[in-house]
Amino acid sequence: MTNGPLIDPASAAEPPPTAFHAVRLSERDVSHLPVIWAGDVVVVGGGSAGSAAAVAAARHGASTLVIENGGFFGGTAAAVLDTMYGFFAPGTDQRVVGGIGWELASALLDVGSAILRGNTYGAGLGVTYEPEALKAEWDRLLVESGAQPLLHTRFTASVLDGTRMTAVVVLTRRGPFLVRAARFVDASGDADVAWAAGCTLEQPSASARVQPLTTTFRVGGVEQPASTAELHRLLQDAAASGAYRLPRREGSSHHTVLPGVFHTNLTRVAGIDPTNPWATTAAEIEGRSQTVEYIRFLRDRMPGYENSYLLSTSVWIGTRETRRLIGRYVLDRDDVVSARRFDDEIALCAAPIEDHDGGTATIWRYVATAEGEPPSGKTYGVPYRCLVPVEVDSLLVAGRSLSATHDAHASARSIAQCLSYGQAAGTAAALSVSAGVSPSEVNADDLRQALVADAVML
Ligand SMILES: Cc1cc2nc3c(=O)[nH]c(=O)nc-3n(C[C@H](O)[C@H](O)[C@H](O)COP(=O)(O)OP(=O)(O)OC[C@H]3O[C@@H](n4cnc5c(N)ncnc54)[C@H](O)[C@@H]3O)c2cc1C
Repeated sequence: MTNGPLIDPASAAEPPPTAFHAVRLSERDVSHLPVIWAGDVVVVGGGSAGSAAAVAAARHGASTLVIENGGFFGGTAAAVLDTMYGFFAPGTDQRVVGGIGWELASALLDVGSAILRGNTYGAGLGVTYEPEALKAEWDRLLVESGAQPLLHTRFTASVLDGTRMTAVVVLTRRGPFLVRAARFVDASGDADVAWAAGCTLEQPSASARVQPLTTTFRVGGVEQPASTAELHRLLQDAAASGAYRLPRREGSSHHTVLPGVFHTNLTRVAGIDPTNPWATTAAEIEGRSQTVEYIRFLRDRMPGYENSYLLSTSVWIGTRETRRLIGRYVLDRDDVVSARRFDDEIALCAAPIEDHDGGTATIWRYVATAEGEPPSGKTYGVPYRCLVPVEVDSLLVAGRSLSATHDAHASARSIAQCLSYGQAAGTAAALSVSAGVSPSEVNADDLRQALVADAVML
């Protein structure tokens, strides 16, 4: 048995502070850099939000570039997960998200690359997909939309002229280049662009807790497994026996589109700041180490897993929460639990507050319910202002770094909602270019009308 982490993520060193002039640059600072692309809209990060933003902006006629650090589109949804939640209100089969998100899900469902899967512990009906099919579907949607994809390219600095963002610096294997655009969408998930531009953010710290990280893994050779309730009971017993190191004693191992292949959400690395590279390195190593322990437990103790084997660990450790924008509106817990609606809402959400920060278990709180009550099926709205920074013009922030408190974020971060925020940000960026106004001046009624015309449910 492993007695403890190889490197303890909680005691990772703190890197020296970043000099602001290294990431927030002026036009003078970058005059020596060659321009690799120039156009209307640049999206940084090609996850769920960024890919949807790029498709939306391109479909609305904007010349659009989407920059992604990895070698594929889909981000966390492709690298870590296999189920999109947030499309359906828990406790019902009522769908609350349409648009590009549902177009993507339907395309996967139609060809058998995805299935609808009920969830016994809270998030409601999910769309469980093959991650490889998801990557291929994003390739098709992006290329057909006319957006220009750019993979293996990392955003490193924001260029500002006063309060207006004019360019970003990206790093490729051929060195740094400048990318110019009229509008930028930060869909990095970690608010990298907004941080570099100097926007006000909620940053992970000792007082601002963030949710733990999880290395997911896939298991092959599973035959007629016992129930989730039984899994939880056996996890408790195994941990209590002292023979296994199992930090999380609930979570899931669920069937996938492929026979005999199960996808897990079991490991837990808590108490680190995911923007700290030393801590993230230790977390990756610890996530793999826990995987070995959970596999040992599953094979030893869980009926149906006797002959199972590890197929793969997630491409990277999954980050639920890092930096978040403090934008023109900050969505909060009260908005979620009271099912609040807004004049400028650009997305609907019925997902519960799902907080993994509570020790070995997960805390669920449903929209428009009291503590401990079952799902109501009600939705709240997410205002456009949650995507709009206060200090910087020509920038929008979409995806899991939207402007929301820790509690509200724990509800608003599902993939279906991130797809909606991306579609809204991409549409708003294109509309703001054609109207010649800044994103904060985009008329919310015009934006909502354009979204509804594109099958978004509001
Ligand atoms: C362990 C875990 C389990 C979860 N379970 C579920 C679930 O079952 N269902 C569900 O609906 N949601 C789940 N979530 C939440 C959900 O997956 C995320 O909130 C959502 O996928 C975030 O999408 P995004 O587009 O905002 O960010 P991401 O998908 O993280 O995309 C960000 C992209 O930006 C790229 N990037 C980052 N920085 C840079 C840079 N500097 N330059 C260039 N590119 C960059 C990254 O490579 C990445 O592709 C889970 C999250 C985690 C971590």
